[in-house]
Amino acid sequence: KSQVPDLPAKEISPSYDWFQTESLVTIVIYTKQKDMDSESVIVDYQDGCFRAEIVIKDYSYLLHTELSHEIQEDITVHVAEKTGKVEIVLKKKDNVSWKYLGHPLENHNSFTTHRETGLYYRKCQLISKVDVTHDTKLYCLMLPPGTHLQVPIGHHVYLKQTVTGTEIVKPYTPVLETLHSNLKESLHPNNKYIYIMIKIYHTGLFTPYFNCLQIGDCVSLSNPEGTFKKSQLQELEELFLVAAGTGFTPMIKILNYALTNITNLRKVKLMFFNKTEGDILWRNQLEQLADKERRFEVEFVLSEPTCEWTGKQGRISLPLLSEFVKRSLEDSRVLICICGPALFTEQGIRLLKDLNFSQEEVHGFTA
Ligand code: FAD
Ligand code: NAD
Repeated sequence: KSQVPDLPAKEISPSYDWFQTESLVTIVIYTKQKDMDSESVIVDYQDGCFRAEIVIKDYSYLLHTELSHEIQEDITVHVAEKTGKVEIVLKKKDNVSWKYLGHPLENHNSFTTHRETGLYYRKCQLISKVDVTHDTKLYCLMLPPGTHLQVPIGHHVYLKQTVTGTEIVKPYTPVLETLHSNLKESLHPNNKYIYIMIKIYHTGLFTPYFNCLQIGDCVSLSNPEGTFKKSQLQELEELFLVAAGTGFTPMIKILNYALTNITNLRKVKLMFFNKTEGDILWRNQLEQLADKERRFEVEFVLSEPTCEWTGKQGRISLPLLSEFVKRSLEDSRVLICICGPALFTEQGIRLLKDLNFSQEEVHGFTA
């Protein structure tokens, strides 16, 4: 099953090899791909079972084996971006020589489409929950010690919980712990923590139950999915983010990444649609960022404001968008990201087309 029949001819299945020293076992995967990075490698080790999924475009290469000996839980992943060589280093629990790597488990050494591979879940522990607004909280989940998983910018994961005997699965977009860059690395400096901002709907199928989880309880979290590519941000000069409600969540990492990594970027503007002032997520943080970062501007638009609101009002419309997404130079390289309720996003994409932005210049986050 290592070669899929409908695989484009140039996509050759990766292969693997392994070697050992007295204390380490190194698994080497030759992906024969350029542009591989550590986000493409997802590793899980639990109860003696080792699973590594290497994501290559629409395909996954899988290693899945019951290891012949026990290992320690801190697994290291190295990716040589130029050659596509992936090294997964396992620390032996006992310094003995291994005769073989392990017993193959389901789909070991296979190269199949994501759809065929399916979503893999691991149990994560709830570490903290902090109020963001009256109905939205920031949850911190800790990956198990044997897991290596990084969620790419603009991608989402699925959370799965059993509610009264039925499994419920919903997608969520991991965010940063905070927009304050000086705090960014400090509290939890490694990749073991995933932050998720979730709005609780009292009549919802999933969120009221998720919100009942106590600190220390576990929830299943999937591998990431999504179509956004970091490369869409390269060479960018102006970035426009159009968000409604929790549609703000993908914008958080995009905003942070663009301001920190894109050298030619002149401007990042966020237009943030909400019902009321009390619904605005991270309002203080956004205003503070706009104060200290001259390239960043934020505009709040309310659909149900009180009479004291002096800012912009209404829902997404041609006049609001055309005023907001103006290029500062005629040939500026721009990207417009849009996310919110499905009808909001669909309408926004239509209006941006009417405003003559090309398909490549608009990224809509849809289900
Ligand atoms: P649901 O049962 O889906 O109900 C939601 C609300 O709609 C409730 O008030 C319910 O009463 C009402 N409702 C349900 N059905 C109907 C109907 N037929 N007619 C009228 N009203 C109805 N959410 C976040 O909070 N944070 C995120 O980071 C996030 N990321 C996402 C990423 C993606 C790719 C997608 C597609 C969605 C994302 N969402 C996010 C939304 C999330 O997946 C859930 O849809 C949301 O949490 C609601 O789930 P629920 O089961 O609690 O509510
Ligand atoms: P909300 O109901 O509080 O509405 C926020 C704003 O969205 C409103 O003030 C209004 O301006 C606008 N809006 C709402 N319905 C609209 C409609 N029918 N047409 C035009 N504009 C409309 O929003 P919420 O409860 O926070 O919901 C956020 C939505 O974003 C959810 O549906 C969620 O699934 C979606 N979401 C999607 C992704 C993704 O990646 N696809 C990520 C996060 C959230």
